[in-house]
Amino acid sequence: MKDVPRKIPKELPIMGKSHNLIIINDPLNKDSGWFLNSDIVINMAWNNSDEFWHTLVHELGHALIRRSGLRQGLSMEMEEVIVQNYATVFTELFKMTFKNNKDIGIPL
Ligand SMILES: [Zn+2]
Repeated sequence: MKDVPRKIPKELPIMGKSHNLIIINDPLNKDSGWFLNSDIVINMAWNNSDEFWHTLVHELGHALIRRSGLRQGLSMEMEEVIVQNYATVFTELFKMTFKNNKDIGIPL
């Protein structure tokens, strides 16, 4: 697993809690992204620049569900359906970028 050079934020505030945004390029790991505790990991081995945003919004959805306390009432399958559709809606509707960051330099 090697670090990917980037200009995007290393930390994202989600409902008052800082989360690490970790970007890797690891073809041996078959997951495109994941959320664990305070880490959002995006694996660029399986994401192009459009997919990066979909994967990031998907993982932000998991963080939102955890931070809001909704996790207790959802099965993992239902959570996946919600965050996947939420990510699709957002990436279809909006051109994504980070606040205060015009040159995000998504790594590929
Ligand atoms: Zn997921």
